[in-house]
Amino acid sequence: MTAEILAVGSELLSGSITNTNAREISRALSAIGIAAAFHTVVGDDPASLRAAIGIARKRADILITTGGLGPTYDDVTKDILCEVFGREPEFHKEVAQGIRGFYETSLHTPMPENNLRLAHLPAGCTVFPNAVGTAPGCAFEEEGLHVLMLPGPPYEMRTMLHGHALPYLRALSTGVTVSHDIMTFGIRESRIDELLHDRMAAMANPSLAPYAKPSEVCLRATARAASAEDAEALLAPVIAHVREILGDHVYGCDVSGLPEACFHLLKEKGLTFATAESCTGGQVAARITAFPGSSSVYRGGVVSYWSEVKRDALGVPWTLIEEHGAVSDPCARAMAEGARKLTGADLAVSVTGVAGPDSDERGNPVGLVFIALATPEGTFCRRTENGSSRRCLIQEVSVNHAYDMIRRYLTGLPVA
Ligand code: ATP
Repeated sequence: MTAEILAVGSELLSGSITNTNAREISRALSAIGIAAAFHTVVGDDPASLRAAIGIARKRADILITTGGLGPTYDDVTKDILCEVFGREPEFHKEVAQGIRGFYETSLHTPMPENNLRLAHLPAGCTVFPNAVGTAPGCAFEEEGLHVLMLPGPPYEMRTMLHGHALPYLRALSTGVTVSHDIMTFGIRESRIDELLHDRMAAMANPSLAPYAKPSEVCLRATARAASAEDAEALLAPVIAHVREILGDHVYGCDVSGLPEACFHLLKEKGLTFATAESCTGGQVAARITAFPGSSSVYRGGVVSYWSEVKRDALGVPWTLIEEHGAVSDPCARAMAEGARKLTGADLAVSVTGVAGPDSDERGNPVGLVFIALATPEGTFCRRTENGSSRRCLIQEVSVNHAYDMIRRYLTGLPVA
């Protein structure tokens, strides 16, 4: 089945807000094996909405609208859907009671009477109650097209999507869909395509699709089968094949990124690490501390932006900085060793480089970054060049290199 997501709101069209709901709905659909074939956006305007629904009913099996369900004059989605599909709005007493209760207990104010509009829903629909807001959603089927209405506010949309819409859609199909994300670092999407193209192009079930992030590529393997066990059985050889072809570029399966992979590895091995950061300004530290329980693996770090801080806090010899510069292999190594000594951690990682927009006083180009890892077995250093990438991209890639060095060390792979 294919789906069309129709986002309704003049603010979306004017560019005041981003259509994050469409992205979120698409992702959730893809996880249950439904492809979003079209994203459409229309303003709060009956004529455009009518036209968009007319197009969608011809080309999709599922139409999911988001937004325009509120009680005000510009919230037109429900009325137009009722009109187009010839369904009278029906009053739902229990929905009205629920909205009144939400006002009294959560908003501590009497319900404005115009909210009774919200309790009118297309005749014969399945009601999706709104647990975290007022406007309910709903679903109905018309000539083979499944129409689902969800609210606009992202939190309300998400809660209803997971609580009601996805279970409704799952019940439409027999069988289950299982996906696994194979995460890679250090290999470009185009190279992955070269290596796996024939396999990817030939496969329908399971399917294998690459999703490139700024500095890594996720390969999503998805299988559809009668049971989860059968789907897993279809996926296992595909995952094994990808691991075999991409080798140690694969750093994990179903993890959010390299920091999470390192978090689990460090925990497993009972090891701790520390950070010494210059051009990443604390982002290596921020990524690990995002995980609850990170204190078991992360001791702390120094953001040593100035050379004086590299010297005073991390003990980097001034003569070393004068001779080689702050953006250099020896400085990165000394920073990592200093952080390890300072914190008593088992490992310490450092980052020093030129994030731009200008090259540094020694003429080092934008994007030149040294990343070092100090360990009980010695210190490793990686030199990376990012061309003329943007500042935030250079920082993000450098953070991933830092974690890649940690995970390589912890899994016995060559580090630098
Ligand atoms: P309400 O009861 O708040 O009127 P509604 O279902 O009518 O709910 P809208 O009025 O269309 O929703 O949107 C409310 C807010 O939700 C918008 O101002 C915007 O901040 C957010 N929103 C709406 N649609 C989207 C979308 N597609 N992506 C992200 N945010 C959205």
